[in-house]
Amino acid sequence: MLKKNLAGIKQRIQNTAHGCGRDPNDVKLVAVSKTVETERVQQAIEAGVTILGENYVQEARDKITALSRYPVSWHFIGHLQSNKSKYVVRLFDLIHSVDRLKLAQELNKQARKLDKIQNILIQVNISGEAAKSGIAEAAAIDLVKEISALEHLSIQGLMTMPPYFNEPEKVKPYFAALQKLSDLIRSLNIVNVNMQELSMGMTGDFEVAIENGATLIRIGTAIFGERL
Ligand SMILES: *Cc1c(COP(=O)(O)O)cnc(C)c1O
Repeated sequence: MLKKNLAGIKQRIQNTAHGCGRDPNDVKLVAVSKTVETERVQQAIEAGVTILGENYVQEARDKITALSRYPVSWHFIGHLQSNKSKYVVRLFDLIHSVDRLKLAQELNKQARKLDKIQNILIQVNISGEAAKSGIAEAAAIDLVKEISALEHLSIQGLMTMPPYFNEPEKVKPYFAALQKLSDLIRSLNIVNVNMQELSMGMTGDFEVAIENGATLIRIGTAIFGERL
C-alpha cells in the first residue's frame, strides 16, 4: 500500500515536472507523518522516503528518537510556539513555519547554544485570512531582512498554506503569488538569505504547486491514507 502510494506520487511528480519543463529532481517530497505511528513511518523510510514532516514537537521527538538509526531528514511544518524552540532546534533540519521576529530570535538563541546554523523557511500568509499563521505578504520582506541579521539562522526560502485545500484550480493564484514574492526577495540579494526553496502543495494540489515552482511538496494523505 505505502509502496504503491509512493510510486504513484513519484510518477505524478515526474509527469508534472516534465510537463512544465522542470527537472523532477528539483522537487523534493516531504512525507507528512503527523499522527502516523512510528512503525508506519519506518515502513515509509524503508520504502524510500528521505524527508519526514512533523507538526507536533512531542510526537515528533518520540519518532525521531525511535528512528534515529535512519539517515533521514526531519522537517518541522506545524505552527510553532517560541517556548518549543529549544526542542525544535535540536530535532529538525529545516523549520518551515517561521513567521515572526520573536520566534526567530528565540530559535536563534537556542541554535547559538548548540553551535548550530538552523535552516528555516518564512511562512507567508499569502491569502491574508485572519485566522491563518504566516507573516502578511506586505510585511514579509521586512521580516526577512530582520531575520537575516540573526547569525544562527539561515533563510532558505518561503512556505505557504493556501485556502481552498484540495481545490487545485483555486489555489493557483496563491502559489503564483508566493513564487513572485520569492523572485522579488531573491532580486534584493540580501546577505544571508537564500531563496532556493518554495514549500507549497499538499495531497490535493501538489501538481499545481510544482507548476508554480514548488521545490518542497508536503504530502501526508496520499502516502499514509486518511488521518484519524
Ligand atoms: C497535514 C499537513 C500537510 C499534509 O496534508 P495532506 O493533505 O494530508 O497531504 C501539509 N502541510 C502541512 C503544514 C500540514 O499540516
